Amino acid sequence: MNIHEYQAKDLFRRFNIATSEGKVFEDENEAEEYAKSLNLDEFVVKAQIHAGGRGKAGGVKLVKTPAEVREAVKSMLGMTLVTHQTGPEGKVVNKVYVEASSSIKKEYYLSFVTDRSSERNVIIASPEGGVDIEKVAQETPDKLLTQPIDPVVGIQPFHVRKVAYFLGLDSAQTKQLNKIIFGMYNLFTKMDCALVEVNPLISTNEDEIKALDAKISFDDNAAFRHKEYSELHDPTEEEPSELEAKKWDFSFVKLNGSIGCLVNGAGLAMATMDIIKHHGAEPANFLDVGGGASVEQVTQAFKMILRDKNVKAILVNIFGGIMKCDTIADGIITAAKEVGIQVPLVVRLEGTNVDLGKAILEESDLDITTASTMKEAAAAVINLI
Ligand code: ADP
Ligand code: MG
Repeated sequence: MNIHEYQAKDLFRRFNIATSEGKVFEDENEAEEYAKSLNLDEFVVKAQIHAGGRGKAGGVKLVKTPAEVREAVKSMLGMTLVTHQTGPEGKVVNKVYVEASSSIKKEYYLSFVTDRSSERNVIIASPEGGVDIEKVAQETPDKLLTQPIDPVVGIQPFHVRKVAYFLGLDSAQTKQLNKIIFGMYNLFTKMDCALVEVNPLISTNEDEIKALDAKISFDDNAAFRHKEYSELHDPTEEEPSELEAKKWDFSFVKLNGSIGCLVNGAGLAMATMDIIKHHGAEPANFLDVGGGASVEQVTQAFKMILRDKNVKAILVNIFGGIMKCDTIADGIITAAKEVGIQVPLVVRLEGTNVDLGKAILEESDLDITTASTMKEAAAAVINLI
């Protein structure tokens, strides 16, 4: 789960991570009043959306007076911002952050993330800040420092020294970095984050080190022990279909292809997407309906898949383990009839009573293509579109 920059910066303050003074607004008059109270000669107005790349897309504006703050806030509220991270449809700006402007001497990159291959939380640092870190990783990997942190001993001063040396900081700056890194690590672990990212971290002309941007992603698996997650959650930032999926306990991710996938089990859902791609087509979604796959769930899943106008065919791939294949076949038919599916439907069943299940599908008056293997199923669905 992602949160906004302004929320991330509130958490930064709580964990003593240096950042600029700022406040979020939904009203330009209040923003102007706040800017007046700051009494500065430069402000930054930043659109709050769950996506980066705002700077280049017009979502970050430098202005000189409270009146200009007002104008900038007014123009951003309600606008649809398209950045390289939002996709072509963009994201609507509902909130705007106003903060003190900083003089920037140099921009760096700093983050904490879990690295699955080393099974450690790691610090990633780079002297190339303010740019796409994926690009740095790809084009100039030597500009990236990754340091694993032993979970038993946690963050240590030597980690900070290594990062500071890599970034070329002097001793006064290193002292400030020390506070930032320890703060970020505490935030990362105490709040069960999947990512804490500062891009850019800056040094100012006054040799201050601070976080200019803030991105935090929480690990949803830890939601049960953080009441605060739900307070920070902004449903307007989520894909409506993914939000609905949560209600039904589905794992759903909307994608851009044309083949809707209805699968039980996350591993099988991944494999289904892989085999569709392997055969040269693109999945329209990742969907794991869970182990059971009841009639109600399958009906809802069909409805959700069909809401996507890009869907030209549906591939159902279900393993009858918890539920028998004949029960699932009945469920698919009932659901398909209720929803009134107008696109080709390919069903691959495997598991207990598979022959009975297939026979039920073949004998139904619906136009369902059955398949025995995943390869067959993928080939069939692609052939049908
Ligand atoms: P995004 O990552 O979405 O583009 P950032 O918060 O990183 O948004 O801002 C983009 C750029 O805008 C930064 O790299 C920095 O150059 C500039 N910027 C952002 N906030 C400030 C600020 N408070 N003072 C001065 N410049 C800023
Ligand atoms: Mg940024």
